[in-house]
Amino acid sequence: MGDMVKEGAVVSLSYTLKLANGDVVDYSEADDPLEYLHGAENIIPGLEQQLLGLKVGDEKDVELAPAEGYGVYDPEDVEVVERKELPKDLTLKLGMVLAISDEDGSLSEAFVREITPNEVKLDFNHPLAGQRLFFKVKVLGVREASEEELAHGHPHGEDGHHHDDDDEFDFDDEDYEDFLDGDDDDDINVSKTHLN
Ligand code: ZN
Repeated sequence: MGDMVKEGAVVSLSYTLKLANGDVVDYSEADDPLEYLHGAENIIPGLEQQLLGLKVGDEKDVELAPAEGYGVYDPEDVEVVERKELPKDLTLKLGMVLAISDEDGSLSEAFVREITPNEVKLDFNHPLAGQRLFFKVKVLGVREASEEELAHGHPHGEDGHHHDDDDEFDFDDEDYEDFLDGDDDDDINVSKTHLN
């Protein structure tokens, strides 16, 4: 053994991601580890760099500044729209994600930050933008990637099937809702709308 995390290795990890206030915003346990292909930017580059050279069984605390994580919070990247510009049948909820298409048709995601009787503040920053990230990771496995995995730029499962995208470090809508209001009694409430 003695395989080290390096370029072209498929690495499986358990991890916990906390914010400065101690909130756990994401994790993967040993029985359902995250697998990624090192060097393929499957995970945040700042984290990837810190894992280089680790061996199976190694644990590490990795602290990332916002710029190395989900970016610096950009206060300009917020837009206030009038409620009447949004579809009437849309039930607005704090923290919900809207897929917004701009004039040239490109889609971007925005979070509902604030709701007032007449206006809605849409935030186009990543929900974890501006946050210092505190990862605790443990390397559970390292193996060489197959040619196919290298060509695809992501690991395939042991049965040869593709892993789903949700195996990546991805702070999803559900996480964000939990993060905002701390309850998880609702289903994920993702609505798509098109602003003109
Ligand atoms: Zn593939």
